Amino acid sequence: MQNIVHKYRIYPNIEQQQYFEQTFGACRWLWNHMLSDRNDIYKRDGETYYPKPSDYKIENPWLKDIDSLALCNVQLNLQSAYSNFFKSLKGDRKGKKISHPKFKSKKRCKQRYKTNVVCGKNGSSNIKIDVDNGTVRLPKIDSKIKTIFHRPLPKNSIVKNVSIEKTVSSKYYIAIGMEIPERDKIIPDITKAVGIDFSMNNIYVTSDGEKANHQHWFRRSEKLLKLRKRRYNRRISKIREKHLLPNQKKLTKDNTKKFREELRNSKNLEKLRIRAGTISERVSNQRKDTLLKEAFRLINKYDVLIFEDINLQTMSRCLNFGKSVADAGFGIFRNRIEQLCNQSGKIFFVVDKWFPSSKMCNKCRHINKDLKLSDREWICPECGTILDRDVNAGINLKNNFLENNTVGTAGINALGDVTSTFSSSLLLASNVNELGKMTLINYNGSPSL
Ligand SMILES: [Zn+2]
Repeated sequence: MQNIVHKYRIYPNIEQQQYFEQTFGACRWLWNHMLSDRNDIYKRDGETYYPKPSDYKIENPWLKDIDSLALCNVQLNLQSAYSNFFKSLKGDRKGKKISHPKFKSKKRCKQRYKTNVVCGKNGSSNIKIDVDNGTVRLPKIDSKIKTIFHRPLPKNSIVKNVSIEKTVSSKYYIAIGMEIPERDKIIPDITKAVGIDFSMNNIYVTSDGEKANHQHWFRRSEKLLKLRKRRYNRRISKIREKHLLPNQKKLTKDNTKKFREELRNSKNLEKLRIRAGTISERVSNQRKDTLLKEAFRLINKYDVLIFEDINLQTMSRCLNFGKSVADAGFGIFRNRIEQLCNQSGKIFFVVDKWFPSSKMCNKCRHINKDLKLSDREWICPECGTILDRDVNAGINLKNNFLENNTVGTAGINALGDVTSTFSSSLLLASNVNELGKMTLINYNGSPSL
C-alpha cells in the first residue's frame, strides 16, 4: 500500500465557513491548553503527562460541538511535536534542529484541521466524497460542501483522512489522504541516466545541458510584495508611535498592553496583512507549479536521476544567497523527484557531498582548485576543454554513478553478459529507495584517478 494526498479547492457557504472557523479555533485552543498544562504538570510534579481532549470537555461543553476526531488529531500532533523535539535534542533526527512546541496564534499559524474516516457497521462512512456531483460531506456539518474535482480520485483508493485548510487570502482547500495499491514498478534502463546539478539561476542544469523553464516568479512579484509589506509595517510603527510617551524610545508596560490590543483589533492592519499574504501565496503557488512540472518532465524522460548531496540550508546561510536559493526551490524539486522515483521504481541516486563535481574536468579529471563560485565557464588547464560550470558538474555526477554501478571495466555500452549482475544491483538500489533512504555511494580514493 502507498499513501498519497490529493488536494482540491472547496467553496463552503457562509454557514460552513463559520463551522470551519469554529473548528480551527477549537483546535488552536485545545493545543494551547494541552501544551501549557503539560508544561505546568512537568514543572510541578516532574511527570510527563499528555492531556487528552476528554480532560477538557466537562468544563468546556462547547467542545462537544466540534468533530471529536479533529480534537484527537491535535493530541497526536502535540505528542509528535514533542517526540520530534526530543529526538532532535538527542541528535537522533537528521536535518534542522526542532524547537520546543510553541503556542499557536490565530494570525501567525495555519488555519487547518484534520479528521479521519470512520466506517460504521453497515458500511456507511462519516465522510462522503461524491466526485460525480462535486460535493464532500464532513462530520458535524449537515450540508454538502461544493468541491471542484479537477482530477479524479485514483482507482482503488481508500480514503483515510481529510484536512481542511484556509489560506491567508480566504481560499479553502480539502486535502484527501488515501491509500492506493502499489503501482507496478519498472526495471530502470541504466542508459537513461542524467546528472542534475543545482543552479542558482535556472533551478537545475542537467548533464545534457537542459535547464528549467524558470520564470523568476519571486523577482517579478517581489516589488509588489515589498510594497505591501512596507505598508503593513508602516501601519504597525504608526500605531506604536501613538502609544509612545513624548521623548521616550521604549513603550511602558501599560502602553505595551494597549499597543498590542490595538494591533489585535485594528481592521485596517488586518486588511494590509491579508493583501501582503495574498501576494506571497501567489508566488508560492507559481513556484510550486513550475517545480512539480519540471520534476514530472524529467522523471518521464530518464530512469536514473543523480543528485549531489548538498545541504541547501547551510548553503544559503553561508553564501548569503538566501533569496535566490529559496527562490529556486531546489529542495522541493529534489524531494518530488525522489518521491516519484520511489513510486515508479526508477533510481534516485545521491553522490557523496565530498565528490568534487564542479571542480573536476569531466574529460581528463583534472581538479581545478582555483575555481571560484563566480566562474560560470572555465577552460581546463590540463586538456583545454571549455567547460560550463553547471553542465560539467552534471556530467561528473552521471559518470560517478556509472562508474560505481558497472562491473569491473565492462562499461555501460558493453553490457552483454553482465546484464544480470547489473539488474540485481539495480534492484538492490531501488529496494533501498523503497525504505525511504537515500542511496549513498562514497567517493573513494583520490579524485584524480
Ligand atoms: Zn581537462
